[in-house]
Amino acid sequence: MKCPKCGKEMEQGYFYGQRALWSKNGDKFTILKGKDDVKLFASGSPAYKCEHCHKIVVVIDY
Ligand SMILES: [Zn+2]
Repeated sequence: MKCPKCGKEMEQGYFYGQRALWSKNGDKFTILKGKDDVKLFASGSPAYKCEHCHKIVVVIDY
């Protein structure tokens, strides 16, 4: 996968973590699910690392 910031090839790995949430709202204080939010069970998802920009891109099924 190419880095969305610099366009260089990223190194593939995996993401490990607990609960997460996707939301269009950028100023939430909790991860309680609101309308249109999506709960994510992301542990084990493929994740790509850019050494150049220090970015991680995680690809999560929902
Ligand atoms: Zn990059």
